[in-house]
Amino acid sequence: QAAMTHRETTTQTECPYCSVQCTMNLHEEKSIMVSRYSVTPNKEDPVTEGRLCVKGLNAHTNAVDDRRLKYPLVRMDGTWSPVAWEDALQRIKLEIRKIQQVYGKDAVGVYGGGSLTNEECYLLGKFARVALQTKYIDYNGRFCMSAAAGAANLTFGVDRGLTNPLSEVPLAKCIILAGTNLAECQPTIMQHFRKARQEGCKIIVIDPRETATCSIADLHLKVRPGYDAALVNGMLKVILEEGYVDRDFIAQRTNGFAELAEHVSKVSLAEVAALTGLDPLHIIEAARMYGQAETGMVFTARGVEQHASGVANVRNFLNLVLVTGKIGKPGCGYGAVTGQANGQGGREHGQKADQLPGYRLIEHPEHRAYIAQVWGVPEEELPRKGVSAYEMMEAIDRGEIKGLIILGSNPVVSGPNSSMVEKALKKLKFLLVIDLFESETARLAHMLLPGSSYLEDEGTMTQLEGRVMVRRALKTLPGKARLDWKILCDIAEVLGKGDFFRYRKAEEIFNELRVASKGGKADYFGMTYEQLERQHGMFWPCPEEGHPGTSRMFEERFEHEDGRARLTPIEHQNPKEVASKKYPYLLTTGRVLQHYLSGVQTRNTPELNSKFPEPLLEIHPESAGEIGLINGGHASVTSKRGMIRLKVKYSAKIRRDTVFVAFHWGDDHCINRLTNPALDPTCRMPEFKVCAVRISPG
Ligand code: SF4
Repeated sequence: QAAMTHRETTTQTECPYCSVQCTMNLHEEKSIMVSRYSVTPNKEDPVTEGRLCVKGLNAHTNAVDDRRLKYPLVRMDGTWSPVAWEDALQRIKLEIRKIQQVYGKDAVGVYGGGSLTNEECYLLGKFARVALQTKYIDYNGRFCMSAAAGAANLTFGVDRGLTNPLSEVPLAKCIILAGTNLAECQPTIMQHFRKARQEGCKIIVIDPRETATCSIADLHLKVRPGYDAALVNGMLKVILEEGYVDRDFIAQRTNGFAELAEHVSKVSLAEVAALTGLDPLHIIEAARMYGQAETGMVFTARGVEQHASGVANVRNFLNLVLVTGKIGKPGCGYGAVTGQANGQGGREHGQKADQLPGYRLIEHPEHRAYIAQVWGVPEEELPRKGVSAYEMMEAIDRGEIKGLIILGSNPVVSGPNSSMVEKALKKLKFLLVIDLFESETARLAHMLLPGSSYLEDEGTMTQLEGRVMVRRALKTLPGKARLDWKILCDIAEVLGKGDFFRYRKAEEIFNELRVASKGGKADYFGMTYEQLERQHGMFWPCPEEGHPGTSRMFEERFEHEDGRARLTPIEHQNPKEVASKKYPYLLTTGRVLQHYLSGVQTRNTPELNSKFPEPLLEIHPESAGEIGLINGGHASVTSKRGMIRLKVKYSAKIRRDTVFVAFHWGDDHCINRLTNPALDPTCRMPEFKVCAVRISPG
């Protein structure tokens, strides 16, 4: 009898959180009444070699949490009422029709996320352009990867996060980790860097804080937030003057060296030292370490990228890579360390305002024609380019967008100047949110639909290396929840566009995505689910079946038409806000180990939330002493955009002029109420990483 009522199964899945996408074994003990789940690492995982962090070990708990949304909810007289799907879909049809008939197609927008599967990202882009015919679509990855993507496109001609697989890290003799705290954000890949160090690699960490990642650093450059490009100009000066350049590589594979050299010749190291707050000898030491090393890799992340000059900052690091010829070879490359689970795939398949699948451009006539043909719609019916994520919020605030559909994102917590985001969303005539829990954004919605978690979803994810992996569904959906992609198809159906959205399973969407990406820069055409599973994922580009995929980029040529990379002189720009008498400190934001993005999932995981239940104001004890703050007491932090109250944590590891707060919390603990929405002119990344604040006790 016991054997009949008790069943144990083990299946493999991937963590839903960060960009490493660690694989894991999910164990289910099923008895008549309940299922109990637990997780162990997958020792066969070639990237993590059997490691999981605390988030991965607990990821399943919120997917099986009883508080998950289980029914479509409609707000009636200020409270949520469950409704049948049919009624919910009819209401959605009415609301969208009403808005579009009065205000035009563009009056309804779509907002996506970088944790969705490739199939969902692709479908969301198609849904916006075909079912809604709106130009307004963008996603939270605009706040995450857009600067690195913009820089890589301009410099290399294509954006793939890591140009080399992580297995090559131990081949590097010098590694620069700029604005990336791997030890907390992607902890399971740290062993590649430790191995490199054991092999004699020198590691340089560039960060205003001495983070956990500094445990592997030979040199830590505690740069003033917002001065990375100036620092790299200083390093370039040393590298050019002392001759650590690869002349053959520059001549054969790059354009623009003369202009760069001319610019760098005018750089003053003393000025760089003053701007960055660094000892000039340390800048020289860093330049020599990287310049003299036979092989080397540079990694950047949000610390460098989330600035109004984010693209320029990254481009200067790419200058460093190119003048030393350290790319396209084993142990030589560049990596933008993606944060979100599908930060890479999320930016390839058309949920960006300016983009169609396969990195095609929405304003490019041939790209439009190709995708229109794949989708079976007239090219002239495809909407034009919309605006970036924060600019969409501004368009809502101005009343240009009246209805919004948000899938798997929480912009009220993750957007910059988030009080304005909240104010704008409250103006909408119709806000529909699809999520797992009632997030801060969902609280403002008129309708809330229960979507799918990673344990129910099927689809592919492209992790930080550019490796595409299949995720299989392991459990049934709770209550009346539906798969995210199915919800989009259901809405398309009631809008009369169902014929364009007939899929029986995620694999059929993937097969359409393969065709849509064919010939594009992110080409998935040669991949099938079966192959992806057999090979533990494949790297794009993979242009035809039988192609092995491309683990190392740029061995022979870059992706600009002439095959050459672009070197570019970068003028340092000050952050849009600098310290002043009224706002004397610099606020920088980031992540902690226990939480993921806006915290909707991790704050709903007791095991994680209990370890880090609220944000802390990290401040140097001497600065705290001057202000009169007590460790463990409270402080008010004020920028030009707002004020929040936080618990104080002394840390001698941070610069004296800088304070740090993690961004995973909402409401009164939402640090993004303070951050600056100044946007990068190229990629429209907001300046999350530096704004001026004043701090007072209490
Ligand atoms: Fe791996 Fe990232 Fe998940 Fe941690 S959060 S287990 S590092 S995928």
